[in-house]
Amino acid sequence: MVKKAAGTTRSAGKAGKKYVYLFGKNMSDGNASMKELLGGKGANLAEMAKLGLPVPAGFTITTECCVDFFKGGMKNPACLEAQVNAAVEKVEKKMGMKFGDKVNPLLLACRSGARSSMPGMMETVLNIGLSSETIPGLVKKTNNERFVFDSYRRLIMMYSDVVMEKAEGIEPASGLGIRKQLDGIMEELKKSKGYKSDTDLSVVDLKKICEDFKARVKKELGKPFPDDAVTQLWGGIGAVFKSWNGKKAVSYRRIEGIPDDWGTAVNVQSMVFGNMGDDSATGVAFTRDPATGDDKFYGEWLINAQGEDVVAGTRTPNPLNNCTRNEQNKHLLSMQEMLPATYKELFDIRNRLEKHYKDMLDIEFTIQNKVLYMLQCRVGKRTGAAALNMAVDMYNQKLIDGPTAVMRVTPTQLDELLHPILDSKAEKKAQDAGLLICKGLPAGPGGAVGALAFTSEKACEMGKKAPCILIREETNPEDVEGMRAAVGILTARGGMTSHAALVARGWGKCCVVGAADLHIDEHAKTVKVNGKTYKEGDMMSLNGSKGHVYAGSIDMIDASENPGLKKFLKLVDKYRKMGVRANADSPEDAEIARNFGAEGIGLFRTEHMFYGKNSEKPLFALRKMILSSTLEERVKAVNELFPFVKKDIMATLKAMKGLPVTVRLLDPPLHEFIPHTKEQQEELSKSIGITLKEFLVRAESLKESNPMMGHRGVRLGVTYPEVTAMQIRAILEASAELGKEGIKCIPEIMIPVTCCVQELKDQKAVIAKVAEEVKAKYNLRRLNFLVGTMIEIPRACLLAAEMAEESDFFSFGTNDLTQMTFGFSRDDIGGFLGDYLDKGILAADPFQTIDQDGVGYLIKHAVKEGRRTKKDLKVGICGEQGGEAKSVEFCFKAGLSYVSCSPFRVPVACLAAAQAAIKAAK
Ligand code: ADP
Ligand code: MG
Ligand code: MG
Repeated sequence: MVKKAAGTTRSAGKAGKKYVYLFGKNMSDGNASMKELLGGKGANLAEMAKLGLPVPAGFTITTECCVDFFKGGMKNPACLEAQVNAAVEKVEKKMGMKFGDKVNPLLLACRSGARSSMPGMMETVLNIGLSSETIPGLVKKTNNERFVFDSYRRLIMMYSDVVMEKAEGIEPASGLGIRKQLDGIMEELKKSKGYKSDTDLSVVDLKKICEDFKARVKKELGKPFPDDAVTQLWGGIGAVFKSWNGKKAVSYRRIEGIPDDWGTAVNVQSMVFGNMGDDSATGVAFTRDPATGDDKFYGEWLINAQGEDVVAGTRTPNPLNNCTRNEQNKHLLSMQEMLPATYKELFDIRNRLEKHYKDMLDIEFTIQNKVLYMLQCRVGKRTGAAALNMAVDMYNQKLIDGPTAVMRVTPTQLDELLHPILDSKAEKKAQDAGLLICKGLPAGPGGAVGALAFTSEKACEMGKKAPCILIREETNPEDVEGMRAAVGILTARGGMTSHAALVARGWGKCCVVGAADLHIDEHAKTVKVNGKTYKEGDMMSLNGSKGHVYAGSIDMIDASENPGLKKFLKLVDKYRKMGVRANADSPEDAEIARNFGAEGIGLFRTEHMFYGKNSEKPLFALRKMILSSTLEERVKAVNELFPFVKKDIMATLKAMKGLPVTVRLLDPPLHEFIPHTKEQQEELSKSIGITLKEFLVRAESLKESNPMMGHRGVRLGVTYPEVTAMQIRAILEASAELGKEGIKCIPEIMIPVTCCVQELKDQKAVIAKVAEEVKAKYNLRRLNFLVGTMIEIPRACLLAAEMAEESDFFSFGTNDLTQMTFGFSRDDIGGFLGDYLDKGILAADPFQTIDQDGVGYLIKHAVKEGRRTKKDLKVGICGEQGGEAKSVEFCFKAGLSYVSCSPFRVPVACLAAAQAAIKAAK
């Protein structure tokens, strides 16, 4: 049901509901706030008329009437006719003309208009009221026969298409629709006469076209085109209602999530004519440039034209003014040049409208014999760059306040700005050309174009010379070098938090995972997709924000060079209440994070020093540690490892310049690190002093059938306290030494994968002991550090009150928490997620956006319980979802102290956090 709009009274009783609202000079019943009832177009027409702008008079039949029309089995509600007739009379009076009159006929437009704009999805019929009765009168009155028959041929075409064909549910094969056929008739004639443009058609031509049109309509549709104004009007109204359930409109609503029961309004409006000659025109404009956001009036117009001619692309439209000139239209005269007075009037209206609506608008106008009329205005669609620039400009121009400016840019739009992307026009072309070869999950942002490399080594080699895309079945830690070297990563398997996805997002690198149609043959270095084969060096293009994979190269644009970005983020931070940190494992990432505004590191993964560049030595020591079987062996290995860990942590603490850094103790299952090549295995056995055979026995004993739930996280520390001790010593010595250098730092030690408070007690005893030793070594009275835990097992959430007894902070590890709450393996969800989404079993990938019902319930419970024990318990989130806008809003509402996400997501998280605070304050 349509809600009753504010500020309106509806007479019930005998007259029935009020279905009809007038608009026009001094006669508007509605206003801009009544979009639900009057649709966007109707509400804004009323508003513009109220502002005193030249809006041709008319009336809006409400969306509620449309709903009732369908409820009544596609019949007009009983009282509608009387209300429409009364309204037509008022409009006639206003315009000084009469609908259907022989001498002074009024023509009407019948225009659709839903609550939220559905561009091009529903129908409009212009020039209603032309018939053998009214045509002679109009010819006489205007003394412009060409104009009358030009209007008539348009009416026949629109009416037969919209009312007689579409609204009747006739679905001709594509290309055989009546509109196409009539178009064909007209093109034929133009061709035979050698005309280039519609404006070349003479009166005689147009008259012939009208006759031919009518004959074809009768033949094709079995009914004559109605030669009566009133029949045409009701036909138009009914057809607009029905267009709400037209094929196009229904599928558009599915995509955009618009409810089916809203209905469309119908706007019946007096016609004004842009096709009356060379001093008449029609046009569309944006109050600012919708691509860049520049504060420049931007638009196009066509002389002697009507309706959709401007957007139809049959003639190249003229530029509105100098700022709208481009390669295609630079030779054409602008409105500013041809009709300076009318242009000035339009420009003034543009300024007034912006001041009034306080936003960039998209407007439609028509000029009839130099007189300007406004036909539509609505908030205009824009790119991410434009949204940001306009928000900053309008804030500086004091058109909008800070909170409004912050709300004007969506997190998706901001994200768009932070990465190079495929040029959307070029992408569309590629798609039209059938180059979209498959789809996967949109794992890493932006776009990438490069040559295919099938192995990490090859990617490193190729990447030095030219951009390459690393294509793998799935990636593993050994691929990181190649992933770094590639501009984009493409995998056939894996979900949104698979290794490839995590790493790619962390670097802000374009990545598509789980593209199941790819059949990769690593040895042959080929990939088969739907029957086609691509080989090493072949070019491909990825859209990491959509998950699209294209064959060939698509042009890229670099949207990040935006001076407005810093200004905007500064404004954002004024309204943000929740902290934003970054997940960073190296000094370089820490640097990026700080530059993007991160207020600390929420997750520093110690194990990252064992992957990628310069990892050989620490990895070797780690492997020795893992394969030790006696305490003695292990202590030796741990001591070898110690300096690497300390150095690594120190570098990152230093880069963060006193901001908090959460260091997570060693987390992954150790078996992951065991070398696979015989050479490496031999070298390692030698170094430990055991035989290869013994080595293999030990390696085998480390294998687990369910490593994600195996010997990992805190469990390692429980079994091997010396491993915990070494890490604590590294962290505390690093911070003590930095302290001596005058660099303040407060490390936050985080214990992962805990499920009970006893684990924390066990580890804290080790920590306390080492802390004493470090204090003694550096002769310190106190050492500042916190000890907390990662909350990533449901049991830890349930027992949060106890966990908090031994924690200075909690940080939700929502990747594992989601995995364990759902029982979905985060590395294998790609195999069935698609089906779950298609069937609507899941609304979204829970590894991308927090499952607020289930996982969110656990989080809220844990926050509440934890703070029951410790009132000021610091609580953060460091899972992948920490950078996703909806999850950020959830975290804010759940009372978290901060979110932590990959460095490149920091601005997006800041924006989402600020928007959540602004919304909550409303
Ligand atoms: P859409 O919602 O698809 O934009 P509209 O109802 O705005 O459809 O109509 C399309 C075009 O028809 C308008 O842009 C305008 O050029 C023309 N048009 C609509 N109403 C009138 C009118 N009253 N007089 C003259 N032209 C009109
Ligand atoms: Mg329009
Ligand atoms: Mg974890």
